[in-house]
Parts: sequence; structure tokens; C-alpha cells
Amino acid sequence: MKQAADFMPTRTPTGENCPDCGRALYTCTIPAVGCFSVPQACACVLAQEETQRKQQLERGRALVRQRLREISGMRKRQQTHTFAGFDAKTSAERRAKKPALDAAAAFAAQYLAGQASGVLYLHGHVGCGKTHLACAIANRAIDRIAVRDEAAEYAGKYGEARFLTRKPVRFTTAAEMLAEIRRSFRNAAQTDILAECKRARLLILDDLGAEKPSDWTRECLFELFDHRNEEGLPTVITSNLSPDSLREQLGERITDRIRDRAAAVRVPGGSERG
Ligand SMILES: [Zn+2]
Repeated sequence: MKQAADFMPTRTPTGENCPDCGRALYTCTIPAVGCFSVPQACACVLAQEETQRKQQLERGRALVRQRLREISGMRKRQQTHTFAGFDAKTSAERRAKKPALDAAAAFAAQYLAGQASGVLYLHGHVGCGKTHLACAIANRAIDRIAVRDEAAEYAGKYGEARFLTRKPVRFTTAAEMLAEIRRSFRNAAQTDILAECKRARLLILDDLGAEKPSDWTRECLFELFDHRNEEGLPTVITSNLSPDSLREQLGERITDRIRDRAAAVRVPGGSERG
């Protein structure tokens, strides 16, 4: 009868040394199946494999985040916008813009802590940098998004992350979204952008109120904001219009949905006529 000890692996020196680090090499034998012995990899090889695996995971994570940036809807240049890159030409301008920068960074921090559920309404003239700030929030959210090991491993192994199609962070201009919804009514094969915008963990709706809405676009916007309200999903809106002007443009029913949970922040600078 075999004892438990017969199943404990034993290490036998092979008499050879690792060509890389010089350590003695062993084979591993389980006495109970004595004829079956396996050469053991040297500790230096195992350590190297572990380092390579970690590097591959890191590469994979970067590829996943890059992919999320690309499918978010941000343009190439917008994908590089950061808070640090939100610079001003003069120190007076920097001082003037600081409260808006701080508000945007605070919203991003709240989002990352899982505590953002409302609306950040960034308004100001064309060229004031409100879209830059909105994209900086999106990019920070993507930078810190938790990437599962399996996804990172797969992306690292194949050098790409096209298998990802869900868009946790979605960026679109309001005009683009409404135009795409119109197209999707005509062609059922189109992506359902309204559904994407409704369920995104973070939505950036750029340039809201640029066009006078029809009854139908009003309905779409109401549906979007009402849903995100109910689900407590955070939204960043940029607009050339002050909150009061937005109410005139879109009507009470929609702006009530936004205003209930919104912090309105004016971004100074830019020019009125764009
Ligand atoms: Zn070695």
C-alpha cells in the first residue's frame, strides 16, 4: 500500500547547471509513479516568464483603452485631450479658467469614485475650451477603467482589441446623434446610437442646442435625459448657450430633466461669433 509521502514530489539534481544563471538544475519525480520524472525549469526562466506575462497584460490593457478611446466617438485629436493640456495663453486667462478646470477635474474624480450621477453643464463661447475639458473627463475615465485580465491577455497576445464593441464612455455631438438617429430609422442595420447614448456609463453630449429642435428631436432628447436621470448615469454636456438660453431653445420639459441634477459651469474665453 502506497503512503501519502509517495505522492510528494521529490527533486533530484541532474548534475547540470542553468546556462543563464548557473544554478543547479533538477528533475521532479513523484515516487508513486517513479518512472515519470519531469525536468524543472530554472527559477530564472520562471521569473522571466512571469515578467513577460505582466508586460503582455500591460500592453493588452493599453490596447483595450486605446480601443475604447477610438470607438467612443471622439476624434483623433480629442482622444489626446487632458486636463494638463488645458492651457491658457496668459496667466490672467489661466486664472479665469481655473474654476472651470477644477470643476471638470472634480467631476472626473467623482465619476472614478462611482459618485457622479448628475450632469456637468459646461457652457461658453466657441473656442473657450469646453469641449477640451469634456474630452479630458472622457479620457481620464478611460485611462482608469478596470480592464479584466482575460481581455488584457487576449489583446496583449493578438496585439489588438477589435473584439471590444461596447462603449462604456460615449462621445457625440448632439447634431451627430440626432442625424444618426434619423438615419437609423431609415436603415435598421445602423447602430442604434440612442440606445448607446442611453446606456453609456459616461456620456459626453457636445454642442447641445446648436440647432432649433423639431418636436421629434425634442422627444429623442427627452427620452435620453429621462432615462439617464432614472438610472443615475452621469452626463457631461457642452453648449454655447447659458442655462437660460438653453431653456428657451429646448423648452422646459427637457431642461427640467437636465437642471434637476446639473452643475452649470461657465468656461470663460473664446469668441461669441466663433
Ligand atoms: Zn537559471
